[in-house]
This record gives sequence, C-alpha cells and structure tokens, in this order.
Amino acid sequence: MDFEKYAQLAATHAAEVDRGTFPTATLKALADDGLLGLVSSKEVGGKGAGLAEAAALVERLARECGSTAMVVCMHFCATAVIEAHGPLDVRKAIAAGKHLSTLAFSEVGSRSQFWVSLGTAQAQGNDVLLSGKKSWITSARHADSYVWSSKPVAGSELSTLWLVPRVTPGIRVADAPFDGLGLRGNDSSPASAEAAKVPASVRLGDDGAGFGIMMGTVLPWFNVLSANVSAGLMEAAVTRTAAHAGGTQFQHAGSAIADLPTVRAYIARMRIKTDQTKALNGDTLAAMGAKREDTMLRVLESKAAAGEAAGEVVDLAMRVCGGAAFRKEVGVERIFRDARAALVMGPTTDVLYDFIGKAVCGQPLF
Ligand SMILES: Cc1cc2nc3c(=O)[nH]c(=O)nc-3n(C[C@H](O)[C@H](O)[C@H](O)COP(=O)(O)OP(=O)(O)OC[C@H]3O[C@@H](n4cnc5c(N)ncnc54)[C@H](O)[C@@H]3O)c2cc1C
Repeated sequence: MDFEKYAQLAATHAAEVDRGTFPTATLKALADDGLLGLVSSKEVGGKGAGLAEAAALVERLARECGSTAMVVCMHFCATAVIEAHGPLDVRKAIAAGKHLSTLAFSEVGSRSQFWVSLGTAQAQGNDVLLSGKKSWITSARHADSYVWSSKPVAGSELSTLWLVPRVTPGIRVADAPFDGLGLRGNDSSPASAEAAKVPASVRLGDDGAGFGIMMGTVLPWFNVLSANVSAGLMEAAVTRTAAHAGGTQFQHAGSAIADLPTVRAYIARMRIKTDQTKALNGDTLAAMGAKREDTMLRVLESKAAAGEAAGEVVDLAMRVCGGAAFRKEVGVERIFRDARAALVMGPTTDVLYDFIGKAVCGQPLF
C-alpha cells in the first residue's frame, strides 16, 4: 500500500502539530480514504488488513510526524479490541472513517503498570457506574470512544474493559491541554470518571477478562506499532542528520561536516541501529505470522529494542548536528523529543527488560 499522500500531509502539518495542534488534517485524509478502517474486517466495510500493514503506515507517518503516528497507533490498538469484542455499529463506524478510538488504561494509582486497574465498575440495573482516574489518554479530547479499563464488577480478576463514549456524563478530561516534552500534538491528557453511567452492554469481553485481552491482543499490537513508530523516527533522524552533515560547510577549510571521519562513524552507527531495529521489527511480524515458538519473546523485544535504539540514534543526531540541532530548522530536535516517549510508554522499556529476563529464565511473567 502507498501511504505517501498521508505522509506528505503529516509533514506539512508537523511543525504546527508540534506546537500542540491535533493532527486533524491528516486524520481526515486517512478517514476519507478508509484508512482509519485499515485493520477493520471487510465484513464491516474495512480494508481487512492486518498488523503488518498498520505497522507500515505508522512507520511512514512517524518519519514525518511522531504525534500523528502515535494517534493512529492508539486507534489501531483500540480497533483490534473493538473488532474482537465490540458492537457492530462502532465497528462499521470505524471502518467508514467516522470513529476514532484510543486506549484509556494507565491510571494515577497503578501508573505504568497498566495491567492493574484501581478504578471501579459498579452494577446498577442494566447499567454500570465507572469511577477512576486515568493518567494519560492519547487523543483524549478528540477520540469518539475510549477502551477503558476498570476493576471487574465482580470477582478478583485484575480488570474488565469497556467501550466508553468520550461524551459520557461523569467523564471529565483535564482542562489544561497537553504540554509535554514530545509527541506534543497527540492530545495525551488525564481524565477522570465519577460514577459515569454506561450500559452494561458496552463491556468488551467478559467481566474480568480485561487482563487477558490486554496481554493477548493489546500488548502485541501496541509493542509492534510502537516499535515501528520508533523505527520511523530513527529513519527520519538518519536522513536529516546525513543531509545536514553533507550540506553544511566549514567555509574556511572548504570541507563539510560529513568530511570528518568521527561524524561519518556516528552516522554509520545511527544507520546500523536503525537497520537492526527494522530487521527485528520485520522478524517479529514474521514470527507472529508463522506462530513461531519465539513469538512472545520477539513481541516483548521489539518495543524494548526499538525504544532504546531510538534514544541512542536521536542522541547521536543531536551530537552530529551540533548547536544547529538546538534550533528547529535542522528538524532533529522534534524527533529527539518525540523518540523519548517510547521508553516510558507502558509497557515501559524497564518493565519489558524484566518480562524478557523472566521469559529467558523460564519464569512466569506475572
Ligand atoms: C505521550 C504519551 C502518551 C500516552 N498515551 C497513553 C494512552 O493513550 N493510554 C494509556 O493508557 N496510557 C498512555 N500513556 C501512559 C504510558 O503508557 C505510561 O503509563 C506512562 O508513561 C507511565 O508514566 P508514569 O510517570 O506513571 O511512570 P511510573 O510508573 O511512575 O514509572 C517510573 C519508572 O519506574 C519504572 N518501572 C515501573 N514499574 C516497573 C517494573 N515493574 N519493573 C521495572 N521498572 C518499572 C518505569 O519503567 C519508569 O522508569 C502515555 C504516555 C505518554 C508519555
């Protein structure tokens, strides 16, 4: 599939989005062309594509605008859950480009350990009252729905998932707009629920099944897409760094920055790390497609490796591009800021290291 049109739109709006504007123009183009329904099944009017195509789209977008790529990443993660457990009308709306969704897992109390829900769901006749404090929701003011986690209504399981319309009385997004270090246009805000009433029928999966859906569906989708967002950011960092180094002269010496062997070595390291990341991302998708024995390990590794490598590549980009990199015209400082998010978005890199270590040592993850 050719995603150039959307990449160019994302590039056109990237600076404005970095100032905190939601990437509406690019999302509208994706919606109009049916690409917000890229992973929706054909039976509901979607494109019927899978994780590999979604990964290719977010990687291409990330080369131009990390915020736009992350909004689309979260929408696809939510869509994967809605496709498996959600109602037909919402599935059709997503496929038709009329519905944007996102994940509302992280909570003020359990922080990055998103698989533990402290918010509650209390039965009231045919309805449920949701209460809780979410610490971050991408697209918080723009999504039509949130895939929302809470404690189960009954039982001691870790969580239950609900498809909550954003415009639900009792749901309140924080007043202050998102003003973060990076991904500044992705509208990541806290939100609270105070006895927010939703029909019990908006439950996604069984009561208490949230943890299984998070680990079985959301984690693979999020890890792979996040790893591809990181790969896109790295590719952009390499391209822009090479262009700056090759095109910037020491006039007194008649040489370019790229004539310095140290600089060329840094750029080589950036290229190698980027290609290693892409290779691991590709192998993760291959493992998933073939249901290989090492699939779970690859899924865990992909986000940890990509997030870490992206941090290293953007550090090198800032170093090679020198003082000029501190200003916006070289175009690497936005990538430097955007790339930091992967390290702390759940499952965080350090949580993934713990999971991978446990998997390698033959210990249960939880
Ligand atoms: C731009 C952005 C967008 C986001 N969008 C969403 C969204 O749409 N939906 C959503 O649900 N969440 C979202 N998040 C939240 C994200 O997934 C994490 O929950 C959040 O970044 C964690 O921040 P914290 O301050 O709570 O981390 P903390 O939990 O306080 O972590 C602090 C440190 O402790 C480490 N740590 C924590 N637990 C362990 C452990 N078990 N082992 C080892 N180390 C550990 C962490 O790795 C980190 O280094 C977003 C975050 C960002 C930055």
